[in-house]
Amino acid sequence: MVPGDQEIILPEGFRCSPFTPFKSFFSKVKMSQVRVRFAPSPTGELHVGGLRTALFNFLYAKKHGGTFILRIEDTDRSRYVHEAEIRLLEMLQWSGIVPDEGPGIGGDFGPYHQSERLELYQEVAEKLIEMGHAYPCFCSTETLDEMRKLQTAKGLPTRYDGRCQNLSDSDRETLLGRGVKPVVRMKIPIKDERIVVRDLVRGNVAFNTTQLDDQVLMKSDGFPTYHLAVVVDDNAMGITHVLRAEEWLPSTPKHLLLYRWLGFTPPQYAHLPLLLNEDRSKMSKRKGDVTVEAFKAKGYLPQALVNFIALLGWNAGDDQELFTLQELIDQFSIERIGKTGAVFNREKLDWMNQIYLQALSPEELVQAVSPFFSGTPFEKSDKRFLCQIAAVVQPALTTLADFPKHLPLFFKEVAAPLEPEEEAKIKTVESRKAFAALQQKLSGGGEWNAEKFMACMKEVQKETGVKGKLLWEPTRLALTRDTQGPELPMVVEILGREKILARLKLALTD
Ligand code: GLU
Repeated sequence: MVPGDQEIILPEGFRCSPFTPFKSFFSKVKMSQVRVRFAPSPTGELHVGGLRTALFNFLYAKKHGGTFILRIEDTDRSRYVHEAEIRLLEMLQWSGIVPDEGPGIGGDFGPYHQSERLELYQEVAEKLIEMGHAYPCFCSTETLDEMRKLQTAKGLPTRYDGRCQNLSDSDRETLLGRGVKPVVRMKIPIKDERIVVRDLVRGNVAFNTTQLDDQVLMKSDGFPTYHLAVVVDDNAMGITHVLRAEEWLPSTPKHLLLYRWLGFTPPQYAHLPLLLNEDRSKMSKRKGDVTVEAFKAKGYLPQALVNFIALLGWNAGDDQELFTLQELIDQFSIERIGKTGAVFNREKLDWMNQIYLQALSPEELVQAVSPFFSGTPFEKSDKRFLCQIAAVVQPALTTLADFPKHLPLFFKEVAAPLEPEEEAKIKTVESRKAFAALQQKLSGGGEWNAEKFMACMKEVQKETGVKGKLLWEPTRLALTRDTQGPELPMVVEILGREKILARLKLALTD
């Protein structure tokens, strides 16, 4: 058994019937096999916090030879966005956090969309009503609003007051006859009880049943709420460990009650610390990008983003910061997940991305940057030429999106016009003297490479006496039409004799 693992013990008197899917669960899962899941609701783009949850689950599964499941929690039909689901799958694929079971992948525990499991939730809800742990509630939105207002006015916590618990069978029939569609609520016992969530990150966290509301389990549209579906599915899918965002911790006691009533053994929980902005506020859109797609679009490499995200709330116990995915798998442990909020430091992400960018071969870099100039005339450029450019430009890149701005330099016959003060710098007596000497040396034929250019520049310096900044600054300006950029000798080598001589000629005209 792996640490934190649990034995699944069938409660006394547990009968699989009428929950047929659970019967198959017990025959399919080996007792000590780790099964974890990422269970996003496809309502918008994948948040980096969601990616962290997916990653930690993935790492835990891989470390223990377990299974990483993707389950789409699409029961809130008013917020469901079909494209969001497609993009979410794409982002997981892009990040390399690929599920073993899930929609489009398959597995023995499907369907993996909650919207395709409605009968099961219905069956469980009916069972809960039958056992006296849930009841239909017919209250209208107006009644609930009124209830809330009154409670607020009295300074009481707002919660459902349980009035529909007392309806008689005939009251219910009358309401049903009138076409009122009820929801199903869980019946929190009146007797106060401490419910302890044994969290693998936070230790024991105690709640009192008096703090809990009669949570809606089934909505009137026949769809379950998250709370019912998550319990039913985690059980039916044989989930052994739930690693999820801290915001779900207050819901866990409700889930534990459902587990108890249904005779299921709960999984082990690990609630992950919040992600914070640098000012320690909760990470939000207002303070910059928060979605995985935005980071992809900005030119961050998936391996850099994944490495960075792995360190949000987890560390290996030393100061190692750079990890391959395999190293993360080998070193990951729930014991090393922190309790305090993890700050999302964008500068650190830039630093990491730079490191991962430098490690790419020119061919890999060209492949990675090409979406950043697709649709431009550079798209059709010769691959070999692009690889040469990539090798020169690479050290100057923080993100892939920085690449295209270096391209014009290598393609235009005569590059962009200069600012007046830059133009002045290439028109001084010294610079003209130096350009003329350089022109003469470079037009001689023979080999053409960075070393040759450096040798010529040395000779120019000797001959003309122009040196240092007075030599290099105007030369860079004349040859690249920019004050900074990649190593000049390498740029010269790639640009070739013709372009360089044309630019020198232009600089020497009045
Ligand atoms: N659907 C929930 C979410 O999007 C899942 C929470 C859980 O992992 O239990 O956060």
